[in-house]
Amino acid sequence: MKERLISYDPSNGEALGSVPVSGPRQITDTVARARKAFGPWKEMGIDARCTLLHKALSRSREEHSVKTLSVLLCREMGKDIQRGSGEVDGAIFGGQANVNSVKNALQTRSAGGGTRIEYRPLGVVAVISPWNYPLAMAINLLIPALVAGNSVVLKPSEETPLIAQEFVEKLNEVLPKNVLQIVFGDGKQGRMLVQSEVNMIAFTGSRATGKNIMARAADGVKRLVMELGGNDPMIVMKDADLDSAAYFAVASSFENAGQMCTATERIYVDESIADRFARRVTEIASDYRVGPWNMPGVNIGPIINARQHSLIVSHLKDAEAKGATVLLGGSKQEAPYITPTVIDGMLTSMAMEREETFGPVVAMSRFSHIENAIARANDSPYGLGAVVFGGKDAPAVADRLEAGMIGINQGVGAGNAPWVGAKQSGFGYHGSADGHRQFAQLRVVSQ
Ligand code: NAD
Repeated sequence: MKERLISYDPSNGEALGSVPVSGPRQITDTVARARKAFGPWKEMGIDARCTLLHKALSRSREEHSVKTLSVLLCREMGKDIQRGSGEVDGAIFGGQANVNSVKNALQTRSAGGGTRIEYRPLGVVAVISPWNYPLAMAINLLIPALVAGNSVVLKPSEETPLIAQEFVEKLNEVLPKNVLQIVFGDGKQGRMLVQSEVNMIAFTGSRATGKNIMARAADGVKRLVMELGGNDPMIVMKDADLDSAAYFAVASSFENAGQMCTATERIYVDESIADRFARRVTEIASDYRVGPWNMPGVNIGPIINARQHSLIVSHLKDAEAKGATVLLGGSKQEAPYITPTVIDGMLTSMAMEREETFGPVVAMSRFSHIENAIARANDSPYGLGAVVFGGKDAPAVADRLEAGMIGINQGVGAGNAPWVGAKQSGFGYHGSADGHRQFAQLRVVSQ
């Protein structure tokens, strides 16, 4: 009998459904079908492709469809219904807006002197996505790939296959056959897809997996978009608006139960305001409630799986053993939840300073000199986002931070800007004309 991938509700372990794990032959056949579908999809032209994609996304916007998708997303991933519906709405509306902006970005343009620049499709694009924003992360990559004229094979996370399947089936009520297909499995199936006859891999996930994909993609010199993990720092200067800094610190550390690539992971606060900041953060954090997706008032859902829960607890135990002060919560946690936790006295030797914790933890450390805070903020292989709260000198501090996205007295990433990492948080990105163009082959024609 064929192996099946069972999807569980992380809040209670209930099996929600299952999908067949794709075998090696099936993955090869899927990519071959995608290659066949690529020709007519490409020939159809960008206007016709956009019309079809708008129509397909409009189906998902119908009220009952949004509801079904939202509930499934919450049950499978664990986020509360408000956040789940927000993700579904954002993915669908954002997807439609993206259809238009990708189309604009890919128009042929003149380079002067009788030379023009064209954007041609690449062929078959593998989109490999994570579980933390299961719909948004997939759609961010598959829309530009499809508008550009590529066919797509999506491999969603093994933690969230059902929401991906539901969404792809919805789009496929409108899209031509085999233009958008899905394969299921974990890292093993992901590796097979990377090594299959695809032309590009658009990946969102961890740094470790990103490295593995890059190594395997080298053989075919396959195009890559790598949106990888982060360990985002926040610096709180002595003249920061303390209340808004404290609210941001908690909201950003706890968002999606801390399971967000740009969650604030490490906070460096000026020692002259640190006691007041710590008190305010602890007060705000105490108001958060853990629980399942459908419990009223819940804003921290379960941690996605036991492995991830143990990793967070191990970071907390490590911090406690090395002398950190626990202001709220701490390492005594009952799976699948991590209650709101606030840690003071984070040290460079602690795992939570060096690695992505990916849980609802505010981790702070005090500094006496801003140079020290900047050095610690930058002392990381990651460089996704970085935030500074402060007065007139905040922009100068922000200017020295090594990250793809910077927030000054606010969070990172807004408007139509690219979603982009620096250092080992990846390269290539989605969003904005530059981002969209990565899903196409640039052709320079002189005549
Ligand atoms: P992951 O790297 O474990 O898995 C991501 C996807 O890759 C899954 O579909 C998985 O099955 C697949 N995969 C695993 N090994 C593979 C391999 N060797 N070859 C091909 N595919 C493979 O990541 P995750 O736990 O699902 O997601 C959390 C991580 O994603 C965090 O590090 C987070 O910061 C990051 N993330 C980054 C962004 C961003 O925009 N930069 C957004 C969301 C999440």
